[in-house]
Amino acid sequence: MSIFDKFRGVEQRLAELQAEGGRNPFSVVIERPLSSTVGIIEGRETLLFGTNNYLGLSQSPRAIEAAVEAVKARGVGTTGSRIANGTQSLHEQLEQRIASFFHQKHCMVFSTGYQANLGMISTLAGKGDYLLLDADSHASIYDASRLGHAQVIRFRHNDPDDLHKRLNRIKDEPGAKLVVVEGIYSMTGNVVPMAEMAAVKRETGSTLLVDEAHSFGVLGPNGRGVAEAAGVEDDVDFIVGTFSKSLGTVGGYCVSRHPELELVRLHCRPYMFTASLPPEVIAATMAALDDMEAQPELRTRLMDNAARFHAGLNRLGLTTGKTVSPVVGVVLETIPEAIMLWNTLLSLGLYVNLSLPPATPDHHPLLRCSVMATHTSEQIDRAVEIFGEAMARLPASA
Ligand code: PMP
Repeated sequence: MSIFDKFRGVEQRLAELQAEGGRNPFSVVIERPLSSTVGIIEGRETLLFGTNNYLGLSQSPRAIEAAVEAVKARGVGTTGSRIANGTQSLHEQLEQRIASFFHQKHCMVFSTGYQANLGMISTLAGKGDYLLLDADSHASIYDASRLGHAQVIRFRHNDPDDLHKRLNRIKDEPGAKLVVVEGIYSMTGNVVPMAEMAAVKRETGSTLLVDEAHSFGVLGPNGRGVAEAAGVEDDVDFIVGTFSKSLGTVGGYCVSRHPELELVRLHCRPYMFTASLPPEVIAATMAALDDMEAQPELRTRLMDNAARFHAGLNRLGLTTGKTVSPVVGVVLETIPEAIMLWNTLLSLGLYVNLSLPPATPDHHPLLRCSVMATHTSEQIDRAVEIFGEAMARLPASA
């Protein structure tokens, strides 16, 4: 028995994938981004429709300039954890900035969004507590449940009645009950029915955490996410999110009105035992947040683009999610069809994400696309056209 035997299954799946389509879909290299919407892949100019860069801010001139200035003034890294030598004045400034953006009192900044979920959820819901998770939760949320040892109860995706029923069954148990939902689900683009979820939270006296990873900067009149859009921010105990999507940088955060968030800093292993964000990332993140606040029209354009893309794909007969959001999961029937279509799209100059079961809901393969505010109408129409061309090239058996 070799220590590597456990990898053989994946090795074989990967060989099959490459035999079916010629590429390893998990090793795509963007050789060079030319702008937020176009990159060089395999030496060709390729339209980027799978980057999560919803507002295009990874290429923000203001953020680039801020990063360069910070790196010149402070160096490239902090070489330490937030609770040791890794807190500089910039980290505190960013926490105040994020807290005030969300109209909340407290904020913790993490090195990634993954760590923010891992740390917050595992620290809040420990042994003897209950963690109520949507069946389609992100991997970081499931991993947090393992780190924290709470009892996991899964409820049906986006189903507040099912959540209510499950909370009722444990209402007399002594453990705390933490409910976790996501603003926009990362694979399908489904939006959580937030007002209904908040009502369940109120009626059951549970604690509510929302991961706004894909909805921060995207939903709500001010971009504060799904809780703002649904008008239920007061019902949410903890908002978690990431800088790696709408703000185009890297890092994670949690904001809350509860002063106990400050105590989480000293209980939260994914916060305590890792190096803090480097200065240039913090400076770029604050500048990108300035951009986001100064240009609310980016959100309008994003939603217009999302609607145009959904409509175009639906006209081709493709199935997308029920809600129009910038995350567009094109649902396909078979894995070979998904692999062939994905490969043909890339050969024709369109990059999207290939998502395969078991990482997808309902065991359907998905071509997961993400729309950006900076896509032009011509780019959206061209992407739809490429989908049409790629479908026409599929063999009848696929
Ligand atoms: N939550 C969700 C729903 C996500 O989709 C992601 C990233 N894919 C994360 C959290 C983690 O974010 P980050 O990339 O900052 O680690």
